Parts: sequence; C-alpha cells; structure tokens
Amino acid sequence: MSHDVLILGSGPAGYTAAIYAARAGLEPVLISGYQPGGQLTITTEVENYPGFRDPIQGPELMEIMRDQAKTCGTEMIAGEAERVDFKSRPFKVWTGDQLYEAHTVIVATGATAKLLGIASENKFMGFGVSACATCDGPFFKGKRVMVVGGGDTAMEEANYLARLVEKVTVVHRRGRDTLRASKIMQDRAFKNSKIQFVWDSVVDEVLGTDGPSQRVTGARLRNVKTGALTPHDLEAVFVAIGHQPNTAFLKGQIPMDERGYILVEPGTARTRVPGVFAAGDVQDSVYRQAVTAAGSGCMAAMDAERWLAHERHVAEGHAAEAHADKPAGARRS
Ligand code: NDP
Repeated sequence: MSHDVLILGSGPAGYTAAIYAARAGLEPVLISGYQPGGQLTITTEVENYPGFRDPIQGPELMEIMRDQAKTCGTEMIAGEAERVDFKSRPFKVWTGDQLYEAHTVIVATGATAKLLGIASENKFMGFGVSACATCDGPFFKGKRVMVVGGGDTAMEEANYLARLVEKVTVVHRRGRDTLRASKIMQDRAFKNSKIQFVWDSVVDEVLGTDGPSQRVTGARLRNVKTGALTPHDLEAVFVAIGHQPNTAFLKGQIPMDERGYILVEPGTARTRVPGVFAAGDVQDSVYRQAVTAAGSGCMAAMDAERWLAHERHVAEGHAAEAHADKPAGARRS
C-alpha cells in the first residue's frame, strides 16, 4: 500500500507537517528517527517559541507537538529511515527490513551535534565528555566543567550548567569579538560570575583516568596563536560546536549543498525531486529555530497536498482523454 504522505523525522518540522497533512485528510505516516522529538528534547528552557507566556522545557514542548499530531490522525512509527529510493514512484523508504511506499515524502530529519574528532574525546565520551548539557549536566553538580564553542548552543549550555556546577570554562577557538552567539546570549554568559572564557584556544586533549573508574579529570588547551599548552582541572567537557544535517542516508538520491543540507526551491519546501519535500534544519543552515522549522513543516505539508492534487488532476485528465479517444462501441460509460 502506498501512503499519500510519509514524513521522516519527529522534530518541530516533522510534527507540524504531520498536523497539517492529517488535517488535510492525507493520513500521514511519520517515522520518528533515532532521536524522537529531535534536538529540542536535549535542550532545557525554550522561551522563544510563541504561545507560551512562561518558558517551557524542550522535551515537554515536543511531547505536546507529538500528541497534537497524533490527535489529528498521524500514524507514528518508531524507527529510523536507513535507505530510500527516490528514483522511481511510488517512493520507497526502508527502516531495517520494513519497506514503506509513498506518493510524497517530507524529509524533516534535522541535524546532529558535531564533535571535535580527537581520540581522547571519543575515549571519554559518556565518562565526562558529552554533547548534551541537559542530559549529563546534573551528573556534575558542584563540579568544574568546560564548554567548547562560541555559538548560541555553547552559550545556552554554559548558562544552563552554571546553575548546577561550581565553574564553567567556555573555550572559543577565536577572539571575544568573533562569538557567533546572539548578543543577548553572550551578555547573559558574560554577566554570569560562574562562567569564564578562554579565547583563541582549542582542546588539545581530554585528560582522565583509565580502568574501571574511567573519568575525565581535566583538559589540555592549546592556544592557536602561541601554541602554548595549558592544563585545566575539571570533571566534564561539553562539546557545543554546531550540527551536521542528517542526510547521509539520502546520498545520491536528492541534491544537497556541500555541507549536506538539502536544496529547496527558495520560498517553498520543494526539493529538486518532484514529490519530495524538505523541512526544518535538514534544509536550513541559517535560522535553525524551532519556530522556523515548524513553519517550514507547514509549508512542506501544503506543498505536498498541492502536488498530490495536481498529479491526480493530471492523471484524471489523461484517463478522460483515453476514454474519449476510444471508438464509441468500445466505451463502457
Ligand atoms: P554555530 O555554528 O552557530 O556555532 C558553532 C561554534 O562552534 C562556533 O563558535 C565555531 O567556531 C565553533 N566550532 C566549530 N567547530 C569547532 C571545532 N572543531 N573546534 C572548536 N570550535 C569549533 O552552532 P550553534 O549550534 O551554536 O548554533 C546553531 C544555530 O542554532 C544558530 O543559528 C543559533 O542561533 C541557533 N540556536 C539558537 C538557540 C536559542 O535561540 N535558544 C540555542 C541554540 C542554537 P567558529 O566561530 O570559529 O567557526
């Protein structure tokens, strides 16, 4: 059976697309992906999503969106889209051995946290190295921690951690005037007495103990201008250096830019494959907000609905023409 609309991803983009597609009577099926609820499930307070007078916790916001999409009539599938065939119709999507076929697909698989790529980061991942302050911050109450990065994610994580820990050291690989974070987030971090900044520096190595009590005990920073190495005693390193769009499973199936973001026709959710639409962070390296993701999810569902209507109109036209072309005696009206 081919579904009208198959949605890949369960962040604000996927759930909003589901709400709109379900209300349009398209009985959408949504494959939730490896992190149900998406990136907002690993964030804390959200105070910039309209409609909430007081800040709401990210996971709670996503629960509400999921319930709304379900109530509207979305079928939810737990699983991860691993492989697709967008070369022929109906489109095909595999989660393990399970095959789903659909007339339209909305890709809303979001983006994933980037890592530093040094061996000691990998070694201590889960033993003091983390890419999610909300998930792991509470393990380090009253301790000293480090946050790597200079964007909004890093500032948000530093501010969050400062509520729990003794001291947060934020490490940025360039100077103070080059933070990518928005001014309000920077100012919040600068004003926080528990947060200190180290400029022009990168993590040379995460230091720690081996064996059964494996844990982080420090980080050695390298000043990128002078080459000087400085050890810092601390218990955790939070990596907050940006994200990678989750499009590896789509390679060769859909045009993307050099970073892997899906290309869409400006002002629409249409990809270069007719019938496949993209919404949220998977196609947006600029705004990357929950509210912009939700907005583009709405666009994707509306574009899919119009596309389906158009295809059906064309198919009906062809059927009527074929009928009219037949000799009168051959017609069964
Ligand atoms: P950004 O791309 O904005 O920032 C990434 C930061 O990490 C940069 O400072 C970058 O340095 C640094 N970095 C990248 N790679 C490395 C590396 N290998 N070693 C050391 N440092 C590195 O990503 P964010 O995740 O912070 O933000 C993404 C988007 O999400 C933004 O648009 C942001 O505004 C938004 N956002 C909004 C939030 C909110 O409003 N509450 C919360 C979180 C994110 P460099 O500058 O030198 O490249």
